[in-house]
Amino acid sequence: MTRTVYVNGEYLPETEAKVSIFDRGFLMADAVYEVTSVLDGKLIDFEGHAVRLKRSLDELQMAEPCSKDELLEIHRKLVELNGINEGLVYLQVTRGSDGDRDFVFPSVDTKPTLVLFTQNKPGLADNPAAKKGAKIISIEDIRWGRRDIKTVQLLYPSMGKMMAKAAGCDDAWMIEDGYVTEGTSNNAYIVKNGKIVTRPLSNDILHGITRKAVLRMAAEAQMEVEERLFTIDEAKEADEAFTTSASAFVMPVVEIDGVVLGDGTPGPIARRLREIYLDESRKAAI
Ligand code: PLP
Repeated sequence: MTRTVYVNGEYLPETEAKVSIFDRGFLMADAVYEVTSVLDGKLIDFEGHAVRLKRSLDELQMAEPCSKDELLEIHRKLVELNGINEGLVYLQVTRGSDGDRDFVFPSVDTKPTLVLFTQNKPGLADNPAAKKGAKIISIEDIRWGRRDIKTVQLLYPSMGKMMAKAAGCDDAWMIEDGYVTEGTSNNAYIVKNGKIVTRPLSNDILHGITRKAVLRMAAEAQMEVEERLFTIDEAKEADEAFTTSASAFVMPVVEIDGVVLGDGTPGPIARRLREIYLDESRKAAI
C-alpha cells in the first residue's frame, strides 16, 4: 500500500516525495530524528519527543522547522491519512542544503528539511517477542561522544544489530571502559535483589523518553531504582534484565552472551513494568 508521507509542507504519496541529493542529512548525517509510537490511533508521549527534538536541534544549532503545535498536527494527520491504529511515526529534521556539498554549515537562513512518515505495526503492544524475551550479545561501543543528541548516525548501531543476528541473537548492548552504555536502539537495565539498576544520564547515552516514563512509573509502584554504571559481568549475574524504547516499550532480556538469566523467561519486574507502561501510556495518549 502506498503511504502518504510529509515533506516540507506537503502531504504526498511516498513514491512522489523528494529530497535534494545535496541535503546535509543525506551527505553528512547532519540530521536529527524522533520516533513516536501510536497505540489505539493515538500518540504516546508526544510531548516528551517534542521536547527532546528541540534539545537535539539546539545542541546542533539547527533551526526549528515549525512549531510544536504544527508538529502535533502533522503527526495526527499522517496517522489519520494512513489509518494507523498501532505503529510508529518517524520524524527527521536535517540542516537542509544551499545546493552544494561543503563541510561548513550553510547560512543560518537555509530552510531545514522536515520529513515524516508512518510505519504500520499491527500487534505492536502485544508483541510475542516480549513474551519470549530477547537474547543479546555485548559489543564494544565505538560511537561518537554526543550520544545524547538523537542524530541519524545509525551505522554502528545498525552493524551491532547485524552482529547480534549473525550470533543468533536479537540485539546488542554496547560496552565502554567495561561498563554497559545502552542497547543499539534502547536503554539498558538490570535487576538484582529487586533493585532496578540503569546508567545515569550523560552525553554517553540517549536520554530515552521511555526511560524517563518507566523510571517515574517504577518509583510510583514503590520499586527501588539505582542510577549507576554497571558492567556486563554484573549484568550476566543479574536476576533479570530489560530494555526500553519508544518502539518496543519495555522488552525483557533473557540471555546475555550466552548466559541465561534466571530461568530464561522474562522476569517479574520487567513484565510488570511493561504492563504498567502500556496501561499508563494508553491512558495519557493524545
Ligand atoms: N538509546 C538509543 C541509542 C536509541 O536509539 C533509542 C531509541 O531509538 C533509545 C535509547 C530509547 O529512546 P526512546 O525511549 O526515546 O525511544
